[in-house]
This record gives sequence, C-alpha cells and structure tokens, in this order.
Amino acid sequence: MSETYRVTLARRASRLAMVARVGVGGTAPIVIQSMTNTDTEDVFATSMQVAQLARAGSELVRITVNTREAAAAVPKIRERLAQMNVDVPLIGDFHFNGHKLLAEHPACAEALAKLRINPGNVGKGARRDEQFAQLIDIACKFDKPIRIGVNWGSLDQTLLARIMDENARRAEPKDATEIMREAMVTSALESAARAEELGLPGDHIILSCKVSGVQDLIAIYRELAARCDYPLHLGLTEAGMGSKGIVASTAALSVLLQEGIGDTIRVSLTPEPNGDRTREVIVAQEILQTMGLRAFTPLVAACPGCGRTTSTVFQELAQDIQNHVRSRMPEWRLARVGVENMTLAVMGCVVNGPGESKHASIGISLPGTGEAPVAPVYVDGERVTTLRGDNIAAEFRQIVDDYVSRNYPERASH
Ligand code: SF4
Repeated sequence: MSETYRVTLARRASRLAMVARVGVGGTAPIVIQSMTNTDTEDVFATSMQVAQLARAGSELVRITVNTREAAAAVPKIRERLAQMNVDVPLIGDFHFNGHKLLAEHPACAEALAKLRINPGNVGKGARRDEQFAQLIDIACKFDKPIRIGVNWGSLDQTLLARIMDENARRAEPKDATEIMREAMVTSALESAARAEELGLPGDHIILSCKVSGVQDLIAIYRELAARCDYPLHLGLTEAGMGSKGIVASTAALSVLLQEGIGDTIRVSLTPEPNGDRTREVIVAQEILQTMGLRAFTPLVAACPGCGRTTSTVFQELAQDIQNHVRSRMPEWRLARVGVENMTLAVMGCVVNGPGESKHASIGISLPGTGEAPVAPVYVDGERVTTLRGDNIAAEFRQIVDDYVSRNYPERASH
C-alpha cells in the first residue's frame, strides 16, 4: 500500500461506515462511477452500455429514470444484465417526477442499488417538501441509499434567494461566487439533515455538489468535508470534450483526493459523436492509479522522445506494449493475483533509458539516433538480455508474458 493511500485511508476513516449495498465510504476503496447516455426505455441498448461500462471497470453505473416507460424498463435492464453475468450496482437518476415514478413502479425501486435525487429539482414551494418526503419514504421502505446530488445548474432557487437575502443584511456582504458556493453546500447539508429527520439512516446518505469550475469544486468540497461525515461523490460537471475535459477533471479531483476527500468519482467527459463512452472510466482509473490510490492495469511509462529519436520505433513499441497489456488484462485480472501492479518502461535512448527501465518491473531502452542498434532489457532492475533485429516487439511481449506467469500467482479459483 502506498504512503499516499495510507494517508487517504486514515483521513477517510473518520467518515461514517460504508454505505449499504454499494460499497462506498468508510475505508472502502474510492469507487469509480459512470453514467449511460442511452435512452433508458431502450432495454437492449442500455443493458449493453451498462455491461460495457462495467467491463471497462465502472463499479457503479447511473442511468436516468425520467419517464414511466424508463421506470418500467429498469427491472428488465437488471434482469438482462444478470443474464450477461453483470452484477454492477445500478443507480437511478431522478428529477422532477421521481416521487411518482418510484411510487408507481416499486419494481424499479427494488432493482436499483441507490437513488440519486437533486434537491433543486424535487419540486417547488410546499410541494418540494412533500415530494422530497415521498422520495425519502421510498428509500426507507426499500432500504436504499440515496445520493443528494446538488448541481449548480439546477440549484434550489428558494434557498438561493434566502441566502442572498441573509447576505444582503451582512455588514460586509460576500461576493456572488462565495454565495453560490455557500448555497450549494447548504442545499446538500440541509437536505441530508431533512432526510435523517424523515427516518433515513445517516449511513444511507452520500452527498455531491457538482460545478464546472475547478476552483469552485475544490472550495465547495473542502467545505463539505469539513462540515459533515457523509461519504462524498466527486465529479466536475460538464467537464467538456477531449483533453479539456480530462485535464479539468484531473486537476480538480486530484487536489481533493490528495486531501482524503472523495469516496466515489466520476469523470464527466462529453464523448465525440458516436465515441466510446468507456473513455470516462479509463480516465477515472488512470487518475486513481497515477496518484497511487488504486491499481487497475499495468502502467507503461514512455519517454516523450526528442531530437535523439528520429524514427517512430519507440513510439510504436510503446503503443504495441500498451495495447498488448490492455488486451491481456481481462484474462490476467481473473487469473493472476497482483498483476495490475506491474510497471513497464519503453524508452527512446541511452540518456534516461537504462535508469528509467531499472525502476520498472520490465523496461527496454531502444537505440537513439547514432547509438548501437541494440535494446537492453531490464527485469526488476537487472539487465537480463539485449534485443536486436526486426523482431523486438514480439520478443518484448513474450518477456512480459513470461514475467506475469513467473511473478503473479494463479488465483485459487482459476
Ligand atoms: S530518453 Fe532519450 S529519446 Fe527519450 S526524451 Fe530522453 S533523451 Fe530523448
């Protein structure tokens, strides 16, 4: 266990016991969550995407439940997933009509492992309290945890108006950013307190307060973590597409995770049209693994290349070995204990190549421009062989496979 992980666990240990059914909170590992973008009414498409996300490593999958037909589809999705041997917990995402849908479709409530409700979208005026109470009543009846998920795009306007009025009476009023942050934290904490008053046990509550600004997210979650013991779900909402979404999510989540804040995470990437939804799961895994908080798949370190590498040989080898590891990992994960902790290095020349290679489980240092056409290979810090010729990629893959067989014992059940 890395030192960072030890510190994180120690900080999180003060939180409440693990939330029922979904393995979140307390000293449980930080859990990866994702969300489908299929129409939930389409049982086949949604089941297939949930299965894809789960197989990619999503440990909780959220689906929107927005219509009667979607609510009726949820138990069928659960059933179809069971037929596919996929037992990932499903979270239902409810807005506006959740109280009605869950009351009319008890099988939907039963099939879900957790309910996500947004206090800003539960209802307006007196109906808000009534509908919130109905939702909590259903959560209690079916013994389901809930996530109280505040989002700045749908902040409870009545509460915001109240906080703005209070602010106006201050001798030194806070600015608009501080008020927005305060309103979000207050919305989450007051909703959680109300849920407990209505009978939902505290260990059935998870909180989130999602915004799209990195500094806002960090400030809000620091405040939340200081003021409550509920497990927290982290995510930067509307993070965006491609590298922008990845960088923004990583920047925000890393700061908080390093401080021991966060029990589940989601990376809300906008996929390219027809793009792969599982990308957000891989990015979430890479955030946790590169921070030393969890290990999912062997990491390949590769140098960026420079004027010493005038060919693409080492880039191709780095890609080849990354693809090889990813394609073998589903089988290795089931069969071999601890294989996710293996590290690999593919380096472009003699400057940093041997040094970096010695730090990895297996490393190879390819010849840079003008160097002898040989590639020394290091295993656990020792130089074991030198590859040369046209078959370096295949020989290196074989060294990796042999290393896995030698160093990671077969699981008893395999
Ligand atoms: S290891 Fe060699 S090729 Fe790679 S970046 Fe460093 S100097 Fe350049």
